[in-house]
Amino acid sequence: MAPPLTASAMLLVGPRHFTRTSMRVPELDHGGWLAIEATGISGVEVQAWKGTSRLVRYPLVPGHEVVGRIADDPHGSFGLPIGTRVVVESSIRCGRCHRCQAGLSSCAGRKPTNAYGQVPSTEAPGLWGGLAEYLFLDPSARLHAVTDDVPAAVGSFAHALAAGFTWAVETPQLRPGQSVLILGPGPRGLASLIAAQAAGAGWVGMTGLSHDADRLGLAKELGADLVVDVETEDLASAVGNSLGTRPDVIVDVTSNDSEVILSALDLVRPGGVVVLASTKGTNAINQLFSDIIVLKELCLRGAFGASSTAYHWATRQIGTDDRLDELVSHEFPLDEADRAIQASDGMLGRDQLFSVAVTL
Ligand SMILES: [Zn+2]
Repeated sequence: MAPPLTASAMLLVGPRHFTRTSMRVPELDHGGWLAIEATGISGVEVQAWKGTSRLVRYPLVPGHEVVGRIADDPHGSFGLPIGTRVVVESSIRCGRCHRCQAGLSSCAGRKPTNAYGQVPSTEAPGLWGGLAEYLFLDPSARLHAVTDDVPAAVGSFAHALAAGFTWAVETPQLRPGQSVLILGPGPRGLASLIAAQAAGAGWVGMTGLSHDADRLGLAKELGADLVVDVETEDLASAVGNSLGTRPDVIVDVTSNDSEVILSALDLVRPGGVVVLASTKGTNAINQLFSDIIVLKELCLRGAFGASSTAYHWATRQIGTDDRLDELVSHEFPLDEADRAIQASDGMLGRDQLFSVAVTL
């Protein structure tokens, strides 16, 4: 399955402006090519499309949650047979920069960030994102084989699942029996729930807004001990009634809501861990009195991206957990990339909206 000479790609030339284009798939003196099967759509793509991310320089091919088949590996860089279905870690790690040396998920080897879906197409060979037929496999790309037994769209959920594992399990060093409250029921919130359960959490709660009713319903089906609509219920009493004490760990995966961090600091148990795993853009926190962190002896951790260990776990979980099949609720073809992004942002309605993928 040698790649063709050209590939279709959805090029984002500026905010809210995609052009379907044909890009060259050159022969390589390093790296390889992936034939893309599906790309998950999340907040990163929404921000790139809306023009609200400071990590985006146009033009670029968005899409960082890629699953596909290795189509070309001329130098044997990846150690897997041609045709193997793989999930490609979003973050490309050069291994040399100060961030890689410190073991962080984000690499400073390219600007603005060294990650798929965020490298401008002006850097050769241009195909750096999942909204295209082919993806360039940087020699530093990390690939994880994933089963052929699930639809490609379900395979793309491995990205969210890996992030959930890092944020809800690895970062807070979750121990069996501990309680976890997840703020925000988006794909990464739901993934955090599944990961926390798999790690043996004793209690998992999840919060959302009224328009998240279907996602909260799914969280309940997935086994959440408590789901709370924070617009109609008092979160502290709901958690107190269900858990009987304060949660050991709180994971914030809400988008753009900075005030929720105050709730997290307030609700978590003394000595507990608060994981901040979502960006708030220009939304500042008002009235944060930092004494609460001191007096409760809290651990506050920022988390960005997923570890390789988490990807390893997630790609295996995809093959064994049937519940994941229903998590990708919306699929769109490549030339409807803008609709896929709008759907992911809830702009096309939120009925039965769990997670969105573009499939090739
Ligand atoms: Zn690096």
